[in-house]
Amino acid sequence: MPAAPKPEILAAFEAAKGFMPVGEGLALYEAAVEAGRLGLPLLEVGTYCGRSTILLAGAAREAGVTAVTVDHHRGSEEQQPGWEYHDPETVDPEVGRMDTLPAFRRTLHRAGLEDHVVAVVGRSPQIAALWRTPVGLVFIDGGHTDEHANGDYEGWAPHLAEGGLLVIHDVFPDPADEFTGQAPYRVYLRALESGAFTEITVADSLRVLRRTRAGI
Ligand code: SAH
Ligand code: MG
Repeated sequence: MPAAPKPEILAAFEAAKGFMPVGEGLALYEAAVEAGRLGLPLLEVGTYCGRSTILLAGAAREAGVTAVTVDHHRGSEEQQPGWEYHDPETVDPEVGRMDTLPAFRRTLHRAGLEDHVVAVVGRSPQIAALWRTPVGLVFIDGGHTDEHANGDYEGWAPHLAEGGLLVIHDVFPDPADEFTGQAPYRVYLRALESGAFTEITVADSLRVLRRTRAGI
C-alpha cells in the first residue's frame, strides 16, 4: 500500500492556493514518506503559498524530520501582473510587488504544521551556496526558465544523500503539453544523463528519481 496523507493533511492541501494537482501531490507525499526514512531534512524549492509544502510537512512530521522550503516569495516570471498565472491577491499593495509569504504562513498555520517546517526566504542558488547539510529529498518546483531550473539542480542535487530522492515537477516531454516551458524536462534529462539517478515514479508531470551514486 502506498503511503497516503491523513485526511486532514489532504483536506488542508486541497484547500490551499497553488499549482499542485491532487494526483501528483499524492505521488509527492509518497516520495517524501520514503525519503523521510533516511532521517534527513526534506528540501523544497518553490514554496509559493504552501500547497505542496503541506504534503512535505505531513511526511516530515510522520518521519520526525524537518521540511525546509525555499522561495524569494516574489513569484516566478509567469506569475507576475499581466501574465497567465498571476493572482492579484498575492500582491503586497504597499510595495507593489508579489509577496506570497503571508499566504504561506496562514496556510501552514491553518494546517497545524508550523513546527515541522523551516521557511528560508531568498534566491535558491544563494541559499544552496550556504547550505552544508545532506538532505533526503530535493523537490524542484521553482522558476521555469533554464537559468532557474538549472540553478536549482546545480545548487541542490549535490546536497542530496545517496539513496535520497530527486523530485521534479512540471516535466513535459511533449511541447504541446507544456504550460510554462520545458526547462524542468531538460533538467530531468540532465539528471538521468548524469548517471547518478534511477527513475522510480512517473505521475503526470511529476518525476521521482533516486540518487543511486555520487558524482553530481
Ligand atoms: N510548490 C508550489 C508552487 C511553486 S510556484 C505549489 O505547490 O503550489 C514557483 C515558486 O518558485 C514561486 O513562488 C517563485 O517565487 C519561486 N521561485 C522562482 N524562482 C526562484 C528562485 N530563483 N529562488 C527562489 N524562489 C524562486
Ligand atoms: Mg509546479
